[in-house]
Amino acid sequence: MIDSYKHKGLRKKLVEEIRNKGIEDENILAAIEKIPRHYFLESSFESFAYQDKPFPIGSGQTISQPYTVAFQTELLEVKPKDKVLEIGTGSGYQACILLELGARVYTIERHRTLYKKTKKLLEKIGYAPKLFYGDGYKGLPAYAPFDKILVTAGASEVPQTLLEQLNAGGIMVIPVGTGDTQIMKQIVKKDDGSFDEKSCGYFRFVPLLSNKV
Ligand code: SAH
Repeated sequence: MIDSYKHKGLRKKLVEEIRNKGIEDENILAAIEKIPRHYFLESSFESFAYQDKPFPIGSGQTISQPYTVAFQTELLEVKPKDKVLEIGTGSGYQACILLELGARVYTIERHRTLYKKTKKLLEKIGYAPKLFYGDGYKGLPAYAPFDKILVTAGASEVPQTLLEQLNAGGIMVIPVGTGDTQIMKQIVKKDDGSFDEKSCGYFRFVPLLSNKV
């Protein structure tokens, strides 16, 4: 796998584009500048890697648009050493962004072929989140609680099981909606166990599927 000066130059441009769209967190922008997004796409689609667009990654799934990755990550307010659960590993790109921010990353994918492909890729490029094959709706009770939970597929509702696996003071970011678009929600778990919820605009995700594993 080659990360050329051309790729690096295209990444710099992508970062400027995302900055202009309103992303301010320099650590997130640095992570996007560092990670070769073209590694996560089939080589024949390499030229699309540095456009600010989602892209098919096989198995009917997509790698999220870089702006959306940055936006969700910003809402997650990641701090180094945070224990973060991601639902929907997909290509693994978002998991790598979280690793670059110093988080301890647990990520679940329900599509077996994609899970295997991504596991191989991440080993090859030297990123090591804890990867799980399974239904993200269930979370990872054996590893809970988490400081942060990031859902990267559109959920019809906020899964109660996931809220239970969040630490007091923890944050969950999840796109919620049944139609073509979802509302991005930032949910903060307060010390008394109640929740504060903020809606942060409309996005378009592939659906979070349940009971298919
Ligand atoms: N975060 C990914 C993009 C994910 S697209 C990236 O950086 O590339 C959404 C992913 O969620 C898809 O790969 C899809 O297979 C997965 N998914 C859908 N329902 C799921 C579920 N219930 N549990 C785990 N993963 C799920």
